[in-house]
Amino acid sequence: MAQVVVVGAGLGGLRAAEALRGQGHDVMVIGDERHLPYNRPPLSKESLKGGVEVEGLHFRRKHDDIDWRLGAAATGCSLASRVVMVDDAAYPFDGLVIASGIRPRHLPVSGPQPAVLRTAEDALALRDRLTPGASLLVVGAGCIGCEVAATARQLGCEVTVTAYDAEPMMRPLGAQLGAAMKAHHEAHGVTFHLGQGVAEFHDDGVTLADGTRLTADVVIEAVGSVPNVEWLHGNDLDLADGVLTDNLMRVLGTDVPVVAVGDIARFPNPRFDDVPRRIEHWNLPTETGKRAGQTLGALLAGEEPTGDFRPMPAFWSDQYDISLQSYGQPALGEPTLIDGEWSGDCIVEYMRGDEVIGVVGVNRTKDLMHYRQEIGSA
Ligand SMILES: Cc1cc2nc3c(=O)[nH]c(=O)nc-3n(C[C@H](O)[C@H](O)[C@H](O)COP(=O)(O)OP(=O)(O)OC[C@H]3O[C@@H](n4cnc5c(N)ncnc54)[C@H](O)[C@@H]3O)c2cc1C
Repeated sequence: MAQVVVVGAGLGGLRAAEALRGQGHDVMVIGDERHLPYNRPPLSKESLKGGVEVEGLHFRRKHDDIDWRLGAAATGCSLASRVVMVDDAAYPFDGLVIASGIRPRHLPVSGPQPAVLRTAEDALALRDRLTPGASLLVVGAGCIGCEVAATARQLGCEVTVTAYDAEPMMRPLGAQLGAAMKAHHEAHGVTFHLGQGVAEFHDDGVTLADGTRLTADVVIEAVGSVPNVEWLHGNDLDLADGVLTDNLMRVLGTDVPVVAVGDIARFPNPRFDDVPRRIEHWNLPTETGKRAGQTLGALLAGEEPTGDFRPMPAFWSDQYDISLQSYGQPALGEPTLIDGEWSGDCIVEYMRGDEVIGVVGVNRTKDLMHYRQEIGSA
């Protein structure tokens, strides 16, 4: 059997490792965090509210004979020599899984860098500071920024959100639902400063582009992500936005058996079109991890991977008493309200031409089930 090295001990790395161990390969997972794979979504929601216990967030693992090299970052890789470098060691492989995910992006402005939220340690540090009466400034109004704002309000903090976009969560939801989410937050006491970039960070807040000075006890930045690709430099791969793969998660630009999974993988999904995209939704590390396991297994056996892979992207977000659920690629379409009201519980379809390409439900999760089959099935 072959030696497989997986770089990244998150959900995608775990699922790929399990698939390959299940085929009988020897698997080593290298992870720079010191934890076994754990669940990240609760870090901005119930876990941030209730106290962060990493042990309670660990995923169940199918195999106890996978080797874990934790607290160790891959610092380099030579595909030609089939070896992954960690500071003090080199790990040879027959097949490689790239599962190193993303990290939070920082705005390129001067001043002290604010806190971010990606890891359990980030959440623990933030939780300690979100005491009742403390003021929190959230820079960025995407899902994570909005979830932290909601959780902080529930913890009794004063919360201000600032973002360049005109509405919160505008990219995944569109302007109308974004405006509705803003109204929900305002009804819970959140103050917004939108449509403005940050000009400078300070220890106690920010200066916005129009000169407005916002101050807070705690500042957190949630403005998008950067793929963790640096350890792959020098191998002539397409690392323009994550790692480019084919539809079956095989990394393009090399003959060596290499696959990529999860947030870092940029792959075409024929459910929508042939454009490679990275998607940062929780269900995709599992789906791409399993598929990548099949693909790498075939390559290690000297066979051409076959099959059809059309995963349905799905995300959810919980804020106050609101549960958002989405299927497909809403960001690629124009929103159309089909049931309910923008400001209340509703279902919104996202149209590309006359095709439904995505859907979002506000407190309507059960009513969306049929979209899982329908979207992209034409
Ligand atoms: C706070 C938060 C809330 C979220 N909420 C939701 C939600 O409500 N709904 C939803 O759909 N999705 C949500 N997500 C997104 C979801 O958690 C991710 O899509 C998922 O965790 C991605 O898994 P992954 O395995 O690709 O990457 P990761 O889980 O990031 O795993 C990658 C691992 O590789 C490690 N690594 C990086 N570089 C190296 C290196 N050089 N060497 C070794 N290891 C390395 C990283 O430290 C990390 O441990 C949320 C994410 C966060 C952070």
